[in-house]
Amino acid sequence: MRIDAVLRDARRRLTSSPSAALDAELLLCHVLAKTRTWLFTWSDRELDANQLAAFEVLLARREAGEPVAHLTGEREFFGRPFRVTADTLIPRPDTETLIDVALTLPLPAQAKVVDLGTGSGAIGVTLALENPDWQVTLVDLSNAALQVAQSNARQFSAKVQCLQGSWLSFCEGRFDLIVSNPPYIDAADHHLDEGDVRFEPRSALVAENHGLADLSEIVRQASGKLVDGGWLMLEHGFEQGEAVRALLGEAGFHDVRTELDLGGNDRVTLGRIALTSS
Ligand code: GLN
Repeated sequence: MRIDAVLRDARRRLTSSPSAALDAELLLCHVLAKTRTWLFTWSDRELDANQLAAFEVLLARREAGEPVAHLTGEREFFGRPFRVTADTLIPRPDTETLIDVALTLPLPAQAKVVDLGTGSGAIGVTLALENPDWQVTLVDLSNAALQVAQSNARQFSAKVQCLQGSWLSFCEGRFDLIVSNPPYIDAADHHLDEGDVRFEPRSALVAENHGLADLSEIVRQASGKLVDGGWLMLEHGFEQGEAVRALLGEAGFHDVRTELDLGGNDRVTLGRIALTSS
């Protein structure tokens, strides 16, 4: 069977996916170990029985709802293919907003940076690669997640330090920048029963107090772990901008602002701490 016909059939079968065409292409790329450009260039090539059988296995699992990132073992983030397992969140395009904003901050050349709840390491590893002189620490409570983060750091030769622990509790010294994409979804949110999130670790998604419990704990800990003028930057839900700005304001942060994600929703709130008043 030809590649274009295989993809057409697969698209028809993946009706429950919001990205059926892309899903089919990524799964076939994975089976053939080729790029999407290659697929389109050679769309009239015939697949052999082994290739078709391997594709069929992945397609059936995708039809049953498994995330493409779990089936291929990777997801692209900020232009790099991050390894992903069921132990971590799958990196989201919305989180690239956090990277874009972090890269514009006025920070020292050798900034001390920490990524809390790093998961696959997408945020911290990307920051370390974009600014090789930054000293980046990756923190996660889950040892399994930290191993994924470490393997991503290794595959891209990013210089990072990994630390197991709850938010900042084992971090020594003070940071120029603290970033986090913590759990922020309310346990009753119906999105948790739909799509890829069903296969992601709950502990990385759900927080108490309407999804604000971990965000507020991080804000509380961060004010004592930043240098004078240091920044805290948090990803949050699209309806949590006001609440997170209030948390930062109450904790003494200034220059507090919220940045929008690619869909135009409140997604990242940041602020700066002043230890000495001028
Ligand atoms: N943005 C993710 C979602 O909506 C949630 C990520 C998180 O909880 N940190 O599925």
